[in-house]
Amino acid sequence: SLAGKVALVTGSTSGIGLAVLEKLAAEGADVVMNGFGDPGSIEAIRSGLEQRYSVRVRYDGADMSKPEEIEAMVEAARRALGALDILVNNAGIQHVEPIERFPVEKWNAILAINLSAAFHTIRASLAGMKARGWGRIVNIASAHALIGSPFKSAYVAAKHGVLGLTKVAALEGAEHGVTANAICPGYVWTPLVEKQIEEQAAAHKIGKDQVVREVLLKNTPTRTFAEAGEIGALAAFLCGPHSGAITGTALPVDGGWTAH
Ligand code: NAD
Repeated sequence: SLAGKVALVTGSTSGIGLAVLEKLAAEGADVVMNGFGDPGSIEAIRSGLEQRYSVRVRYDGADMSKPEEIEAMVEAARRALGALDILVNNAGIQHVEPIERFPVEKWNAILAINLSAAFHTIRASLAGMKARGWGRIVNIASAHALIGSPFKSAYVAAKHGVLGLTKVAALEGAEHGVTANAICPGYVWTPLVEKQIEEQAAAHKIGKDQVVREVLLKNTPTRTFAEAGEIGALAAFLCGPHSGAITGTALPVDGGWTAH
């Protein structure tokens, strides 16, 4: 059980982040939900989790591309909930286009949200974890932290960077009971992937069904998408009592994709 622990999950209003948030709340952690979305839907999720799992659930709308908002969110979480024991860096965006046409502002936004944001959250929370002698950092990276694909220059570069950051956080936390690991999903059916199917169809000049078969799942031996809940379950395991020796790792959840 994670009762008595406080967790922050960035980008947890949707998809994988929401599944991780719910799993940690189900294990008894007080949680901070972050991300964009319609205020009414966000409040419905927030109060729903609070009632279902009898934990405290806070919402913070910090923009993960803004370092000062990230720092303020970590500080506010600490003040409101007493500590920050578990940090899940999940917020992420994607853009699919060949390098020579890749918009510079998209490159900058993807590096900021998918990579630098994790540096800023860790920077703001590691001292507190070390001082209490316990902490868990889980970075939602990607199979694209281990291998490349065409038209995803910024995303692949950022996710490879997340693995480097994960290793360094693991080394710095090692003697203080703080672990840091990266989960590397292949394709998970979420709004991010639905949007990407349209972009891939345009980039490859093929239809959407063909994108799923011939682009997305082409190199996935199991031929299936993972469920967001499966990522949530692994994240919860990494935050639980049997994971203290697992640190600095990259754990693929990709149907065998990176076994090729
Ligand atoms: P999603 O689009 O469903 O959710 C993304 C979340 O991030 C949302 O809550 C959104 O509001 C939030 N977000 C986006 N920009 C933000 C910002 N500037 N500040 C704060 N929050 C912001 O996406 P998802 O598929 O659930 O992806 C979550 C993570 O998992 C991402 O890091 C993604 O790269 C990674 N991932 C996804 C897949 C997949 O197949 N879906 C595969 C591998 C890795």
